[in-house]
Amino acid sequence: MRKSLPCTFAAALAAQPRRIRAPTIGDHGHSRRSAPPRSGLARALAATALFALAQAAAAAQSSGPHPGPAPRDFAHAEVHILKVQGSIYMLVGAGGNITVQTGSDGVLLVDTGYAAMSEKVLAAVRSLSDGPIRYIIDTHVHADHTGGNETLAKAGSTIAGGNVVGNIGASAGSQAAILAFQTVLERMAAPSEGEAATPQGAWPTETYTTPERKLFFNGEGIEMIHIPAAHTDGDTMVFFRRSDVISTGDIFVTNGYPIVDLARGGNIQGVIAGLNRIIEIAIPANEQEDGTLVVPGHGRLCDVADVVFYQEMVTIIRDRVQDMIKRGLTLAQVVAARPTRDYDPRYGATSGFWTTDKFVEAVYRSLKH
Ligand SMILES: [Zn+2]
Repeated sequence: MRKSLPCTFAAALAAQPRRIRAPTIGDHGHSRRSAPPRSGLARALAATALFALAQAAAAAQSSGPHPGPAPRDFAHAEVHILKVQGSIYMLVGAGGNITVQTGSDGVLLVDTGYAAMSEKVLAAVRSLSDGPIRYIIDTHVHADHTGGNETLAKAGSTIAGGNVVGNIGASAGSQAAILAFQTVLERMAAPSEGEAATPQGAWPTETYTTPERKLFFNGEGIEMIHIPAAHTDGDTMVFFRRSDVISTGDIFVTNGYPIVDLARGGNIQGVIAGLNRIIEIAIPANEQEDGTLVVPGHGRLCDVADVVFYQEMVTIIRDRVQDMIKRGLTLAQVVAARPTRDYDPRYGATSGFWTTDKFVEAVYRSLKH
């Protein structure tokens, strides 16, 4: 049970590929989670279509509770590039969403996708910038977000004279710095029993343990914000202050209930705290649309209104389960009471890795803990 816990929904969707239509632009994704169309967000629509394409490809070919498609299927997966705003792009299709910041100083990446996709990710980055890859920020430990660390870090270089070279040896200077919260390194260096080891070249070269770490790169302030015990115990959200974009990692996803990785220190309360933090930072433009843009861990590009809707959903379900616990209901009774019922058409899953029942169980265990 402690084996690699996927944070992609490809596996969950694998068992129901019939529900995934081939999307076209203007098609708001897949039928079982259709959201009302949102005018003025052509970018988001495009992202949805692109993501659905990638997801459909992955879902059609993946099997079992492992994170993502089998290796042979990566050959057919494509990485799509979406301009977000300012100096930020979003890469879709390599696993978790990847955020790219480019400018005169070089390239900064938030997450790196699956290992098997890293050459395609590198090609996508190169199509955006010839500059050196200087920084990789890992939002958390999962392989669909960190698998490309080694390849992409080796394609880059650390800024000479900085204090970013870690303690893994002189060779660290000839690669990009990999930044993450401390527990990401700990979990990679000492995997739980039954977990695959992470190659040392993929480990963070510099970690932080404070609530925030700040960087200035490509002419903008960048805040790495740690949210304790949320999706995992090592989550970082990244706020690009000038571009006005937040890259959230898997604290926020658009295509299912939040995954709470209890085995790696996750907790539903932290997920809600993280969603609240996004809402706190973000400033919407007219009528709650646009303004600060949000790159989720999985799914389409969003604005703050999307996050508010999701935060309300998660909070309402948390409160319902909390109330049931107070009334003395057992886990089985809570699951049977279906506290998610009204949201299931949009976010629920009855098969695959992260079923609705597993989500309810994770909420229950988070609160019982
Ligand atoms: Zn994850």
